[in-house]
Amino acid sequence: MSIEFDDNFSDRIVTSSQMPQDESEPTLRPQTMAEYIGQTKAKENLSVFIEAAKRRGEPLDHVLLYGPPGLGKTTLAGIIANEMGVNIRVTSGPAIEKAGDLAALLTNLSENDILFIDEIHRLNRSVEEILYPAMEDYALDIILGKGPSARSIRLDLPKFTLIGATTRAGQMTSPLRDRFGVMLRLELYSPEELQTIVTRSAEILNVQADRAGTYEIARRSRGTPRIANRMLRRVRDFAQVQFNGVITKEAADTALRALEVDELGLDSIDRRMLRSIITTFGGGPVGLETLAATIGEEAVTLEDVYEPYLMQIGFLNRTPRGRCVTALAYDHLDIQPNMPSTPEQLQLGD
Ligand code: ADP
Repeated sequence: MSIEFDDNFSDRIVTSSQMPQDESEPTLRPQTMAEYIGQTKAKENLSVFIEAAKRRGEPLDHVLLYGPPGLGKTTLAGIIANEMGVNIRVTSGPAIEKAGDLAALLTNLSENDILFIDEIHRLNRSVEEILYPAMEDYALDIILGKGPSARSIRLDLPKFTLIGATTRAGQMTSPLRDRFGVMLRLELYSPEELQTIVTRSAEILNVQADRAGTYEIARRSRGTPRIANRMLRRVRDFAQVQFNGVITKEAADTALRALEVDELGLDSIDRRMLRSIITTFGGGPVGLETLAATIGEEAVTLEDVYEPYLMQIGFLNRTPRGRCVTALAYDHLDIQPNMPSTPEQLQLGD
């Protein structure tokens, strides 16, 4: 019997955004700096800042974490709270609709608490303006009344730390960005780091896995822990049904092939994107919006989720004139670089 998954399903396994099937993630989420694998530079810097703030008995400076989805921004915010020994309130940019919502959150914090705002680039303007004095002076400016008789009063807030997370630091306004004392960029993980994460997760989920099996999952999870953990759960299903419950290289390969994830972790959208640049645009350059329209995906999704990994493995370049594929991508897709591929190109002998 062959197993078929529709396109949507195969698209989902490598998506780095959080999905309902990731609900067991909290159990896999590291709680301490020592359990948090990789991101050495960010961790080293943070440890110094945390230690210094603790010694001074002050809250940590405001921290901005940025990088593609699924790399551990929320996890790191939780760890910072643990290491500082303070409470953390978690919310997100789109969830704070009105200035009053943010004011309520801020006034409910205790001294030194952490407020974590995910997708902070999506805060609306009026909410963002409340944040400026809150971050800078731990104060809340409230306007009473309307028109000429309106007056503003200033309320003191507890000293707190704001941790913002974003996939697009470039889309934040500079007044907001400039108010963060610490900015840390999270990088895609190496296969070895991901293997350590998969091995740890397999132990927590109580599933047997050999080294070749965990490495196979690691090298196919596009540098992203969330994807590695999700693949581990799907591979576990195949291992239980077809491979005596042990995750071996063969079990991982069988499962990931069935989910249409190739040897490098590319899925159908990556391949469609690369093929489209090659066949429709002669290998590039092509503008992001044009490319997105051609393959029927949102430009932001291509930019935030697909491109970072394709660039990391050297398949795609961003140039001022647009996106170009590299010789490596031609090789992987088994297409000859100089072969005319569209009927127009054939006619023009191009
Ligand atoms: P983000 O907020 O950047 O989208 P998360 O913090 O939600 O990502 O991380 C997704 C999942 O990946 C977490 O639940 C956790 O299990 C795992 N994870 C992320 N970073 C690490 C890490 N450095 N070490 C181990 N597991 C990690």
